[in-house]
Amino acid sequence: MMSEKRRIDFCTTCRKETPYTLEKQTIVKNIKDKDYTFTLTTAVCDECGSFMSPPGLIDKNVQEMDTQYRTYENIVSVHDIKRLMAIYKMGQGPLSLALGFGEVTITRYLSGQIPSKEYSDIIRNALISPRFMKKMLYENRDKITPAAYNKAIKAAEELEDLFAVSDKILGVIYCLFEQLTEITPLMLQKLLYFVQGISYANHNTPIFPEDCQAWTHGPVYPEIYTLFKQFRYNPIEDPRFVIFEGTDDKLTVQERHIVELVANTFGEYTGKPLERITHQEAPWQDARKGYGDGIPSNELISKQSIRDYYLEKEILYDFSSPEGIKKYIEEMCH
Ligand SMILES: [Zn+2]
Repeated sequence: MMSEKRRIDFCTTCRKETPYTLEKQTIVKNIKDKDYTFTLTTAVCDECGSFMSPPGLIDKNVQEMDTQYRTYENIVSVHDIKRLMAIYKMGQGPLSLALGFGEVTITRYLSGQIPSKEYSDIIRNALISPRFMKKMLYENRDKITPAAYNKAIKAAEELEDLFAVSDKILGVIYCLFEQLTEITPLMLQKLLYFVQGISYANHNTPIFPEDCQAWTHGPVYPEIYTLFKQFRYNPIEDPRFVIFEGTDDKLTVQERHIVELVANTFGEYTGKPLERITHQEAPWQDARKGYGDGIPSNELISKQSIRDYYLEKEILYDFSSPEGIKKYIEEMCH
């Protein structure tokens, strides 16, 4: 029951403006021979108890029923379809044809028509699997222009690279992007390394399985380097990440907390100061032994060395608090 604000509208029974109360009501509705229970909002006149129809209420309930029906039947939303168009850079018509639908099917879905379960499943599969999307594109390549086909295939291939790394590291990257407005590839590399270090310091375990290497500019996760090298020294702005929208459950609450801790401390610095910090740390220095300044190397920085270093420093600094981490950063920067 909502009663923060006194709501008033015309009651057709009382024949005057009366206050009313919004109440939730469940109704059973039969759609295509199947009963569905929907929770809708009703407006009840405070004076006579009749139902009222204040402006916007019907629209709100139509919207509610649409959402609830799609949830029951596990049908994709309009937003999902828009994400698919963004990911594969395709217009409504070409996407429709590429999925093996009629040319205007997607257009109708975008204006509110509910997809059949079969078509909804095709859209969902395309959304979660670039391999499936490539298969659909290949099967229907004669129906769309070569330009649209090539653009979509290229997007699918780039997405496949994204799926080649672990869910956990993707979860960390996605979470960092949510927390910070601008991240360059160099900065991202360092933050990933610090996430592992702070996770070891606090929970004696890494968050993701990937290993980093001791490159001249500090620790680098090579698979992630490949994924984002096109952005060079610029902030990463990656439309591919639309695919993870609403799927941030790749991380546990504890893991998410670590990433946020790193974002709020190390994340306040740009790539270069972060690089200077890693250059003073044992894991990178030990892996670089025997290499002169600026000599490239692909030496592994073992998880063990990150663990040992951060567990040792944890005794001197409290890495479970932003203050402790900031104190560490300040001392490393001087
Ligand atoms: Zn009334």
